[in-house]
Amino acid sequence: MTGKEKAKERREKRLQQVSLLRTIPYSDHQRWWSSETIAVVTGANRGIGFEIARQLAGQGLTVILTSRDISVGLEAAKVLQEGGFNIDIHQLDVLEQSSIEEFCEWIREKYGGIDILVNNAGVNFNIGNNNSVEFAKEVIATNYYGTKSMIKAMIPLMRPSSAGARIVSVSSRLGKLNGRRNRLENPTLRQQLGDLDSLSEELIDSTVETFLKEVEEGTWESGGWPQTLTDYSMSKLAVNAYTRLMAKILSDRPEGEKIYINCYCPGWVKTAMTGWSGNVSAEYGADTGVWLSLLPDQAITGKFFAERREISF
Ligand code: NDP
Repeated sequence: MTGKEKAKERREKRLQQVSLLRTIPYSDHQRWWSSETIAVVTGANRGIGFEIARQLAGQGLTVILTSRDISVGLEAAKVLQEGGFNIDIHQLDVLEQSSIEEFCEWIREKYGGIDILVNNAGVNFNIGNNNSVEFAKEVIATNYYGTKSMIKAMIPLMRPSSAGARIVSVSSRLGKLNGRRNRLENPTLRQQLGDLDSLSEELIDSTVETFLKEVEEGTWESGGWPQTLTDYSMSKLAVNAYTRLMAKILSDRPEGEKIYINCYCPGWVKTAMTGWSGNVSAEYGADTGVWLSLLPDQAITGKFFAERREISF
């Protein structure tokens, strides 16, 4: 059997295992949530975000489906509302500070706070082997800075609870720091980003800004950046690093006010982003995000998951 065939076999086995896990319902004592529990999902009008919203609502939570285009969001919300789910809808563009502020104000007034934030909104402009960096700025701005802005805006709105509030970001294995392929070439930078003692917001920001500067100057190809979907991989590498950093910062919070933050890779998913060429459905791609959002007895934070299993950053 070739390496490729073995990998395919492993993937199919894991797919079956996760499908089986998905059939096991949560027991009453595991359900720390209720219809009063509020989950916000960004970019939930389609794709993986829509599925995350649908599955969380299916577990009985109230889900705020957000969409940068309100008319598209309303249509998506209607589909779920007609299915009997508790779904509310609000406009949210993670690139617009004014949109984020207006959203926070609305949440504060209508719900008083939230319990779960799922950062799903994201963009990627390359399909297949293309590696254009024409939209690098937008990719980094949406996937990394947009996620960061949402985390910063939502933390003050996260309600105290014994189960802890949760933040889950949809990331990608392409952003792995120490992957065998597609990684930063500079070992010092990898080490600094990988070590919680040297990791800082400034370091993450300056890393993506150096990349963007090289894009602007046309020198990025020799910069030692990841080779595949370079701008996208950099944006997710930053999301992963920021997840670890925030977990450390949030770990100081007292019992009863805990916030757990993790990220995950949904796999290669059949959505518009991949030109529908992925190998798993959006339903499957949403699963680990929903599972992480609802973990009973959650003490897990600052970790990276794929298919309900922890993987290395
Ligand atoms: P889609 O392209 O189907 O969906 C992306 C969603 O993000 C859309 O709802 C889109 O809104 C929204 N979005 C984009 N920019 C913004 C913004 N500025 N503000 C608010 N929402 C925005 O992609 P997927 O469902 O596949 O992707 C969802 C997440 O999963 C992304 O973070 C992606 O990087 C990640 N991911 C996907 C993989 C895959 O194989 N598909 C693999 C690994 C990670 P609109 O409809 O208005 O464009």
